[in-house]
Amino acid sequence: MGEFLTSYWKAQLTQGLDEVKPRPGFEVVTMIVTVKAYPAIGRKNGEGVCVAGIRIDTPSPQWIRLFPVNFRGLDEIHQFKKWQVIRLRVQRGTSDRRAESYTPDLSTLQLGQLVDTQSGTWERRWQIVDGLIDTYTACEFHSAGRAKGQAAPSLGLITPAEIKGLEVGLNPDYLNQGSQKHEQLSLFGEPVKFLEPPPFIAKYSYTCREPSCRGHDQTLIDWESGVFARKRIQAVGREAAMVEHHDKFLTQLCSPSNDTKFFLGNQHNYPHGFLVLGVFYPKKGSQPAATLDF
Ligand SMILES: [Zn+2]
Repeated sequence: MGEFLTSYWKAQLTQGLDEVKPRPGFEVVTMIVTVKAYPAIGRKNGEGVCVAGIRIDTPSPQWIRLFPVNFRGLDEIHQFKKWQVIRLRVQRGTSDRRAESYTPDLSTLQLGQLVDTQSGTWERRWQIVDGLIDTYTACEFHSAGRAKGQAAPSLGLITPAEIKGLEVGLNPDYLNQGSQKHEQLSLFGEPVKFLEPPPFIAKYSYTCREPSCRGHDQTLIDWESGVFARKRIQAVGREAAMVEHHDKFLTQLCSPSNDTKFFLGNQHNYPHGFLVLGVFYPKKGSQPAATLDF
C-alpha cells in the first residue's frame, strides 16, 4: 500500500487550520470525523456526544474517539459535521482506558475542510478509510472485548456478510421523557435546553465475515438517525415515521446496490458490547483500486 494520504491532499484538507499550541500532558490531533452519536446524558459530564474518526496526522490511519463532546453547547460555527476535518488539543482519558479514547479540550477546536461524497463517487472517503476496513470482524471485536476488556480494539469499520434486517421499535425513554425533564443539567448545574431521547431504537441484525458467525444484533446510535426520527414524527406521525425509518436505514442505505459497511464502537463499561455508530454506504464498485506506489 502507498502513502496513507498524499501530502498534497493532506495539505488541502488542513488548509486554513491554524497551529494549536501544545500543552504539557496534552496532544494536538488533526482528524476526520466519521461518526457522531446521539447525545447521552451522563451524571458526571452532563450532556455528551461520542465523536469518533480517523487521524490524518499520523503516518498510518488511526481511530480516535473524543468524549465527552457537548456538541449542542458549541457555537454554531464550531458545530462540525461528519466527514469534516477538525484539529484540537486532547488528553488521554482518565477513567476510559480504551486506547482510542481522548478527552477533548474544545476551547482549542478548529474546523477544516468537509470531505463530501464527490457526486456520489466517495473517492476521497474511500481513501480515508482505506487501511482500516475489516481489520477485524464483528465476531473478533466481540471476543477481544470479552478477553481483554478496555485494552481491546474499540472502533472499526466492518463489511457485513449479510444484512438480515432492521428492527425499529419505540424507545421507552422517549415515551417516559416527561419524568426526565427536570434531571437535565449542565456541568455547572444550570438547566439546559431539553434533549429529547431518540424516539426509536433501531437494531441491525447481520452476520459478519467470520465463517462461524452466528449473527449480531446491534443498535444504531447515529445522531442523524435520532434527528431524522424526530423530524419525521412531527411531519407524518409516529407509525408512518417508523416505516420511513426502516426504509431509509435498511432499504436505502443497505440497498444491494451499495457496498454498505458499519462503523462499530463498543461501550466503555461493556467492552464486548458493540453498537453501530454509523453507516458507510457508497455505491457498489466505487472502491478505487489499491493505492499504487509512485
Ligand atoms: Zn460475526
